[in-house]
Amino acid sequence: MPADYSRTKQPIYAVTADYSKNTGAVEYIAHLILTNNRVVAIGKAIQGSGSGAINHPDQKFWRESAKTLTVVLGKATPAATVRDIVRVEIDCTLLPCEGTGGCTTSVSALMKAVGYDGLSVRVFSHRNESAPRPGYLPSRYYDFTVGARNEVLQAARVDTGGWSWAA
Ligand SMILES: [Zn+2]
Repeated sequence: MPADYSRTKQPIYAVTADYSKNTGAVEYIAHLILTNNRVVAIGKAIQGSGSGAINHPDQKFWRESAKTLTVVLGKATPAATVRDIVRVEIDCTLLPCEGTGGCTTSVSALMKAVGYDGLSVRVFSHRNESAPRPGYLPSRYYDFTVGARNEVLQAARVDTGGWSWAA
């Protein structure tokens, strides 16, 4: 299991703090994390319905909202190259769904299609994914690599650590 992770608040907290609410829409956004504290949104946040994995915000974001890696690198200040990439960070209300055609495997393929092949991704689920337990953070995260085989993506999805915002 990955170690618990304390996450620097800015600038992502400002746009995702309400993702932990237990009511309302299921929301999703991804940012490109670059060296020297540069963070660029990959697209506008998406809200999704629950009707079928293809309509989940995870897949809608990468199909409809995400800019290509080349475009996102061009938005960094100062300008960035692929050598400056630390990882992609995804903020979602709930961890991606599993199973055939589920977001766990489909998102990797959609990311590959818009130029993110081979990049490291850290997925942060904001809502509590489990009942309260002493010493266990209920908001979970996991890491995967874009383009990994489906069984590797599925194994990563269930190997989670806990996370919280840094004070
Ligand atoms: Zn899904």
